[in-house]
Amino acid sequence: MVGMQTRIIDGRKLAARMQGELAGRIGTMVDPPCLAVVIVGDDPASRVYVAAKGRAAASVGILSRIVPLASSVTEADVLATVRQLNEDSCVDAILVQLPLPSHVRATAVIEAVDPSKDVDGFHPLNMGRLGTGIGMVPCTPAGIMLLLSEARASIRGSRVLVIGCGAIAGRPAAALLSAAGATVTMAHKDTRDLAWECRRAEIVVAAAGCAGLVGRGHLQEGAIVVDVGINRLADGRLVGDVAYEECLGWASAITPVPGGVGPMTIACLMQNTLAAADARRQPPAVLA
Ligand code: NAD
Repeated sequence: MVGMQTRIIDGRKLAARMQGELAGRIGTMVDPPCLAVVIVGDDPASRVYVAAKGRAAASVGILSRIVPLASSVTEADVLATVRQLNEDSCVDAILVQLPLPSHVRATAVIEAVDPSKDVDGFHPLNMGRLGTGIGMVPCTPAGIMLLLSEARASIRGSRVLVIGCGAIAGRPAAALLSAAGATVTMAHKDTRDLAWECRRAEIVVAAAGCAGLVGRGHLQEGAIVVDVGINRLADGRLVGDVAYEECLGWASAITPVPGGVGPMTIACLMQNTLAAADARRQPPAVLA
């Protein structure tokens, strides 16, 4: 029997297309957007992420300003740096690379960022506005929605399972999907029967950070699968939460890891930066 033809939703290709469009628009601006990236300490993974964001910014014509702070910095100094960037009229967008050292409260720092410059979309005001069409949408869930649209998934009316309720991926993704008309179930580590929940879903978004969590046996035939997880195996390979090979020929569409959600997260960050810059360059509304 010939299995189903699984469509690979190519995040790299979609991100490259988006970045090409962004570069075109930014190329016409007299005053290109500026993204400030605050990085505290010298966590190697954070350095790699910050460098990747800097390269992506440069490739679309966004100016980036890296603001390195020593890991011994006080919380008050991090907050002061963020407030300075809020006030700086040359800075359109601010991102604070997480995680922060344990003596600096991430919530305090995130809440200090001007919500209109908060391109990560983590400020409670932006989180609260999710799905309303205003405010900054966090980059990973924004990327997930674009990947689903690329796969021509019909979200309205569909049963969607989001696995993982983390603050930056699963939870905001569930809010966006629900606002788009899906019937959303959120699963997490205490969910009693994950396979049963999975099999009911036409769309599965896996954001748990658990390699091999979702296999073919979990899915209904023809399900659409978005794999957000990033897991490093003992042999050095990078895999998602979904047993990818197993799902080929069974799922109707699937995002690979790497090359799925990851590149879209960065492209959406660039898109948010342009949106923040555009909003700041609007002439002020005249009140009648
Ligand atoms: P998190 O730790 O904040 O949340 C993890 C969630 O998964 C929790 O709700 C937990 O209950 C659930 N979970 C854990 N084990 C589970 C299990 N066995 N069964 C069901 N649920 C389980 O993590 P996070 O920051 O949301 O990240 C989740 C994953 O997504 C990680 O692998 C992370 O690297 C990845 N991620 C990728 C991107 C990207 O751009 N591709 C962005 C953000 C996060």
